[in-house]
Amino acid sequence: LKKKYLFGIAAVAIAVLAFAFIIPDLIKNSPYSPEHGLSEDDTIAVHEPKTEYGIIVDSLEVLNAEIQNGDFLGDILDDYGISATMLDQVLKSSKNIFDVRKIRVGNPYTLIYKEDSVKRCEYFVYELNKVDYITLCFCDSVYAYLSHKPVERDTISTSGVIESSLYEALDDAGSSPELALKLANVYAWTVDFYIVQKGDAFKAIYVEEFVEGESVGIKEILCANFNYYGKDIYAFRFQQDSLTDPEYFDSEGNSLRRAFLKMPLEFGRMTSPYNKNRFHPVLKYNKPHLGTDYAAPSGTPILATGDGTVIEASYTSGNGNYVKIKHNSVYTTQYLHMKGFASGIKKGVHVAQGDVIGYVGSTGLATGPHVCYRFWKNGSQVDPRKEELPSAEPIIESNREKFEALKGKWMEKLGEIGEKPV
Ligand SMILES: [Zn+2]
Repeated sequence: LKKKYLFGIAAVAIAVLAFAFIIPDLIKNSPYSPEHGLSEDDTIAVHEPKTEYGIIVDSLEVLNAEIQNGDFLGDILDDYGISATMLDQVLKSSKNIFDVRKIRVGNPYTLIYKEDSVKRCEYFVYELNKVDYITLCFCDSVYAYLSHKPVERDTISTSGVIESSLYEALDDAGSSPELALKLANVYAWTVDFYIVQKGDAFKAIYVEEFVEGESVGIKEILCANFNYYGKDIYAFRFQQDSLTDPEYFDSEGNSLRRAFLKMPLEFGRMTSPYNKNRFHPVLKYNKPHLGTDYAAPSGTPILATGDGTVIEASYTSGNGNYVKIKHNSVYTTQYLHMKGFASGIKKGVHVAQGDVIGYVGSTGLATGPHVCYRFWKNGSQVDPRKEELPSAEPIIESNREKFEALKGKWMEKLGEIGEKPV
């Protein structure tokens, strides 16, 4: 503390002296003093230091490049006077923020170095992605730090009318294919994008992120409306509580997410529907088919259509390898003819919607690789394609007022979007 005071006093003393003696003298001799007057050519040059990634590079050399196939960080830095020991030291200090084995071909990097008789690297900057970058410092001390470029967020409105597909309509509206994927996700349980028809229309308000004026992706869809076969299906993003992720709710406050997927395969072809009077292809007599068959290549992953507990993972001569899942007191599903179970799938295991439980095969009474999907409601087998499948949890009462306010605001904004894209 004492030292600080001494410096303070010294600084004040120097300042006083400067005002008293030096500055008036400078003014007298300066070209800007009233005696000289300002000529028109005189401009006051303000020196703006040149920076790269926040580092002042005025007295340094800068090389911008990209990681090439076969590049090793050690080789790149070796040419700039960085020994393997120094690199090792900096990598040790940065092991929680940077994995050198994961440097990717095509990612930009920047070498900031001194050039005297030899080149000597002071800073090495590597862009992990469009937002995050790591700086390795080889100055007086060796260390590393992670930084982020400023991300700007824009709220964007879009709309379109479908001529042939959602992707094409979005492309016409000047939106990215990423938006089509995000919209398809929001409506995955309510709209079948394979059977959208000409004249279906959509509107959406979403947040897109930009770095240095360039889009780095869509952050989230805030709200949307899909007019599907003449019916408006709204989607409002809302977070029910801090422990769960935000979800999309319709204008009634029902979740757009269903408790069940439409089918147990990501892509599959329905080959035999639920049918109470069906001629069995193997047994050669009429036997009701109380499941729905989806054909897919052998080995295609089979997904749990809802959250639940595996109550059977077993084999019978008719079913082949099969898994049965109890979802709650009302619903149970079963998946037959599997080639095999996914690892860890056995009786008592809890599975989440979309988890892989096994693989398509043709074990048991089957003519070719397919999955027979069976669906029980209150103990009897029903056709899931004809069931009003239950939604995930709707807006809870204590959130109702907040949700209605948000919905009102977004309905108004959606109403302001023109049908035709600008
Ligand atoms: Zn079947």
